[in-house]
Amino acid sequence: MKKLKIGVLALQGAVSEHIEALERTMKKLGLKGKVLAVRKTEDLNEISGLVIPGGESTTINRLMLETKISEKIIELAGQGLPILATCAGAILLAKEGDEQIKKTGTILLGLLEMKILRNAFGRQVNSFETEIKIPELGKRPFRAVFIRAPAVEKVWGETKVWAKYKNKIIGAKKGNVLALTFHPELTSDLRIHEYFIKMAVDFPR
Ligand code: GLN
Repeated sequence: MKKLKIGVLALQGAVSEHIEALERTMKKLGLKGKVLAVRKTEDLNEISGLVIPGGESTTINRLMLETKISEKIIELAGQGLPILATCAGAILLAKEGDEQIKKTGTILLGLLEMKILRNAFGRQVNSFETEIKIPELGKRPFRAVFIRAPAVEKVWGETKVWAKYKNKIIGAKKGNVLALTFHPELTSDLRIHEYFIKMAVDFPR
C-alpha cells in the first residue's frame, strides 16, 4: 500500500486543527502515511493532497507571495493535485473577489470560477454553527461552523456548487479542487476530510 503524504499550508490560520483531523481520518481509513506542514515551495513536492486552511486571507496571501508558493500551487492544481480550501483558503482560490477583497490588494489564485464575498455573514459576532445538507455526503446533516465566513456569489464554467446553506453557496468544486466557506476541521465529523483523502489516494504520485 502506498504511503500517503498530505500537506497543510502552514503559513497562518487553523493549521493544527486540519492536521489533527487529517491524521484521525487516515487512521480511521486504515491508511499509512503522514501529514506535513507546508511552509515552502519544496514541501509541495511529494504530497498527494493539499489543504489551504482558514485564517486571515490577507495574511496568508502576503506570506504566499513572499514564499513564492502560489505559482507552484497553481501548477500542481493543473496537474490534478487534490486541494481542499476552507474559509480564508476558499477566498484565495477564487477567480473574482468582491470590493472588500479588491481593496485589500489580495492576489487570488483563480483556480475556481467563482466570485467570493468576504465576511458575507457579517462580522465576528455573527459566527455561528448550523446543520447543512451536503448531497455528496449522504442524508446525515453536517454540522458546519462559520467564522466571519465568506460566501460564493456565483460560479461559472466548470465550477459547480457543492454545498448550499439557505440561499447562499458555501461550497464549490471543480474536478480536483474543493472550496468550503465553513470550517469542517472544528467538529468531530470527519466526512469531509474522508472525502478529500479519498481524492488524494487516487492522485498518482
Ligand atoms: N474573514 C476572513 C478573511 O477574510 C476569513 C475567516 C476565516 O477563515 N475563518 O480572511
